[in-house]
Amino acid sequence: MTATRRAVIAGSVAVTLAAPRLARAAAGAVVVIGAGFGGATAARYLKRLDPAVDVTLVEREASIVTCPFSNAVLGGYETLQGITRSLGGLKAAGVKVVRGEASAIDLQARRVRLADGSRIAYDRLVVSPGIDLNFAGVAGYSEAAAAQMPHAWKAGAQTMLLRQQLEAMPDGGTFIVVPPANPFRCPPGPYERVSLVASYFKAKKPKSKILVLDAKDNFSKQGLFQAAWEAEFPGMIDWIAGKDGGKVESVDPAAMTVKCGFGSQKGDVVNIIPPQRAGAIAQSAALAGDNGWCPVDPMTFASTKATNVHVIGDASIAGAMPKSGSSANAQGKVAAGAILASLAGKPAPTPALNNICYSLVTPDYGISVTDVYQVTKDKGITTTPNAGGLSVRTPTDLGERKLEAAFARGWYRNISADSWG
Ligand SMILES: Cc1cc2nc3c(=O)[nH]c(=O)nc-3n(C[C@H](O)[C@H](O)[C@H](O)COP(=O)(O)OP(=O)(O)OC[C@H]3O[C@@H](n4cnc5c(N)ncnc54)[C@H](O)[C@@H]3O)c2cc1C
Repeated sequence: MTATRRAVIAGSVAVTLAAPRLARAAAGAVVVIGAGFGGATAARYLKRLDPAVDVTLVEREASIVTCPFSNAVLGGYETLQGITRSLGGLKAAGVKVVRGEASAIDLQARRVRLADGSRIAYDRLVVSPGIDLNFAGVAGYSEAAAAQMPHAWKAGAQTMLLRQQLEAMPDGGTFIVVPPANPFRCPPGPYERVSLVASYFKAKKPKSKILVLDAKDNFSKQGLFQAAWEAEFPGMIDWIAGKDGGKVESVDPAAMTVKCGFGSQKGDVVNIIPPQRAGAIAQSAALAGDNGWCPVDPMTFASTKATNVHVIGDASIAGAMPKSGSSANAQGKVAAGAILASLAGKPAPTPALNNICYSLVTPDYGISVTDVYQVTKDKGITTTPNAGGLSVRTPTDLGERKLEAAFARGWYRNISADSWG
């Protein structure tokens, strides 16, 4: 490995960057919006690859409650504190962390305005604001209605509310889960949620039922999830595809009912996961297209709508990559490498990307999907044939599933350390 070619490896995430030589790199000011998986990684790797670069990270929250493992909180297997990451590691790495709301981007003057009126100038900007929930995308649902029918699709208070509702639910009650159409944050997430809540019900409320009313006709790791549901929770989970009437037309939070293709269904606890789009700052800065997501150059994650701006993570349109913490972390490194190269007046390195998504069915039963991606200017980010894959459908014994559950926890520890330090 030479000084200009580094392999940056984070757990299962491997991204190859050609970073400029440190001594020769042109220093510059980079502002990053959002300290989630994407933004934190970009900020940390910018400082790591070139300590001379001035990196300012703007984040509205004091610390980050991660969505990965928030489904384990719903099942009672993890605490909110256990999935909260401090921003102290970023500060220790030399990143200037500013707590605040980025309220506008002046693309001409290259300045980010904060809600308190202050302004931060940049040479390059990284936008990683995650998602906004489109409450209006489900008739009858609203931000206020999330107090009755939580979404819990941003981890924190909503996670705890849904957990409390599940704990208060009587044995024999019905939990309704309404996943959205594609694309959305964490394609296997709703089904991991169903699994870990079923695991909780099996132990504490075995007469309970889970009804999944899906907008889609198929879902991520479907065969693995459904085989596991049959084996672990026989008769407890009913998944209804969109084509079979599962698509929800409207909800009534006061009555705790959900109207789908076969009438009105009443739940004791109802989890609505509304459609999503790139975070608000990406919309207001006109970085997003009509579909709500931000188009980027797949080689660098540079916005195709604004110069000197990179969009990474869930907010970006990243071809075959799913909207995941793994993807956002990998994209943060690609953006960091591309920015340093451009500040040094060099061509951007060629990225190599992969993604792995673990899901827990029970605390001791893990499954995964992994993909390796090819990146070309004309075809964008595409899945490499015959690379990656799913956990075996029929394991020889459950020891393999137990091992994958341990890998999932290892992945979380590694990617947390790699993103936040
Ligand atoms: C239930 C669930 C389970 C999941 N499990 C997994 C998993 O097992 N593995 C996996 O890889 N992924 C998982 N994910 C997906 C993962 O959480 C996201 O893909 C990931 O967080 C995306 O990173 P990001 O940087 O794009 O956005 P985020 O991590 O959401 O970070 C965005 C940050 O920007 C901040 N922000 C936004 N706008 C502003 C602004 N204007 N000013 C200041 N700050 C702002 C926000 O406060 C936030 O901290 C899961 C998601 C869910 C919902």
